[in-house]
Amino acid sequence: MSTLDAIVVGSGPNGLAAAVTLARAGLSVTVLERAETIGGGARTAELTLPGFRHDICSAVHPMAFASPFFSEFRLRERMEFVTPEISYAHPLDGGRAALAHRDIALTAEGLGRDGRAWQQMFGPLVADGRALAEVTGSALLRAVGHPVATLRLGLRALEQGGPLWNLRWSGDAAPALLSGVMAHAVQPMPTLGSAAAGLALATHAHAAGWPIPIGGSQSIIDTLAADLRAHGGTIETGIDVTDIRALPASRLVLFDTSAAGMARIAGDRLPDAYRARLRRFRFGNAAAKVDFALSAPVPWTNPDLVRSGTLHIGGTRPEVARGERDVATGRIPRSPYVLASQPTTFDPSRAPAGRHVLWTYTHVPAGSTVDPTEAITRQIERFAPGFRDVILASASSSAEGLEVYNPNYVGGDIASGAGSFAQLLARPVLSPTPWRTPAKGVYLASASASPGPGVHGMAGWNAAVTALRDEFGVAAPPSLAPDGAQHVA
Ligand SMILES: Cc1cc2nc3c(=O)[nH]c(=O)nc-3n(C[C@H](O)[C@H](O)[C@H](O)COP(=O)(O)OP(=O)(O)OC[C@H]3O[C@@H](n4cnc5c(N)ncnc54)[C@H](O)[C@@H]3O)c2cc1C
Repeated sequence: MSTLDAIVVGSGPNGLAAAVTLARAGLSVTVLERAETIGGGARTAELTLPGFRHDICSAVHPMAFASPFFSEFRLRERMEFVTPEISYAHPLDGGRAALAHRDIALTAEGLGRDGRAWQQMFGPLVADGRALAEVTGSALLRAVGHPVATLRLGLRALEQGGPLWNLRWSGDAAPALLSGVMAHAVQPMPTLGSAAAGLALATHAHAAGWPIPIGGSQSIIDTLAADLRAHGGTIETGIDVTDIRALPASRLVLFDTSAAGMARIAGDRLPDAYRARLRRFRFGNAAAKVDFALSAPVPWTNPDLVRSGTLHIGGTRPEVARGERDVATGRIPRSPYVLASQPTTFDPSRAPAGRHVLWTYTHVPAGSTVDPTEAITRQIERFAPGFRDVILASASSSAEGLEVYNPNYVGGDIASGAGSFAQLLARPVLSPTPWRTPAKGVYLASASASPGPGVHGMAGWNAAVTALRDEFGVAAPPSLAPDGAQHVA
């Protein structure tokens, strides 16, 4: 291999976002990926039966339209998405359900006497639109530039992240609906971390919606990889990078690994003091996953649920909070919180005609070896009696198994770092440019760096733009628009 400008270790969405940005700036770039296929947390494959294509990790993409990186890259013009009219929904006992429509007024209507409170909470956040996406897309750095949006989000996070979180609500549907989205953070509730993450995700649900890629998450990766190759970048799979000293010479090394993975691979290229700071970066609790091949759609008692792109299953706010508290204290919850999506409702190409795939995961303590299949099946049956009868096959992964699949998910932590409020700000360290390490040419580009988990490419983009400025004196980030299209500022 001749001397390169840049090596990116890992081909997840952040690694590819970094590589695309560097290649667009005219650098020679190679991505090295340990697995045999590219994509990290955005791969799609036949996990159960022939013809049933499952998203192995991410499935629903709240950031696909909201991410400033994907806007620059014009992702939605390059590939097809379907955006369900109901972004997420929350079944309750007795055949009831709370529904988060994209239309905030319709959502409020369905929430009865809490509808007004919902509208007051999310109306101003949705109006902040792009400012909020920038704030949550880059934490410290952009918050300063959007004080009003930051203040609005901050005040609401203080309310929903603290002991007064129930004051606003009088029924059980609205708080359950919000708790379902807050629980994405895998944190005890109420806490600032779960509130901030939940409010941001819920705002995207009303703003641009929660899109689902036609063909699965892999389509996002294939689109990024095609652009990288079109600009001279290369990707090599089956290469597990274990020591930075064994890499070919290059001016830059960007790590799409966990912070701990980078510390291990870079070794003493990183100063001791910085490695000590990385050791203080905490990994969180975990996910355990089950994919189902179904002979028919999930037979939800409430028929509206089939129109929702994502479901949060686990009952009322106190039940969801209890389940997350169990996980935080090292126990497998008796009544687990389950995330589910049946993408075939919107994209029938993922399964043979009339059949469906169902993507689910639940939260468990870090490192758990428990197979979640029975617990998830039971919880779905609670709101969809007869679910067992439509299961043709399933494939599962424990938390431990997720780390074997991808070492970025330390102990099964799918966020590559706990989602506490402190670690949303200091990720992996407190800095306006947390992607830069003290070692010349070494950058962290993964979900372990700000702004954290999700398929948005923001950590990779920020790392690449910082590296271009530091090492090549490139002041303006390159255009990422499809060739021939105008650069969008
Ligand atoms: C079960 C699950 C469900 C999820 N659901 C969603 C969702 O619905 N929506 C959403 O937005 N996000 C979701 N996520 C989170 C999302 O997938 C991640 O936050 C995102 O993929 C992080 O991107 P990344 O590029 O930082 O890292 P990753 O996607 O983890 O990619 C890292 C890549 O680096 C490679 N690698 C690691 N170490 C080495 C090494 N030493 N040498 C070479 N290669 C290496 C890995 O094999 C991997 O391909 C989910 C994750 C999981 C696991």
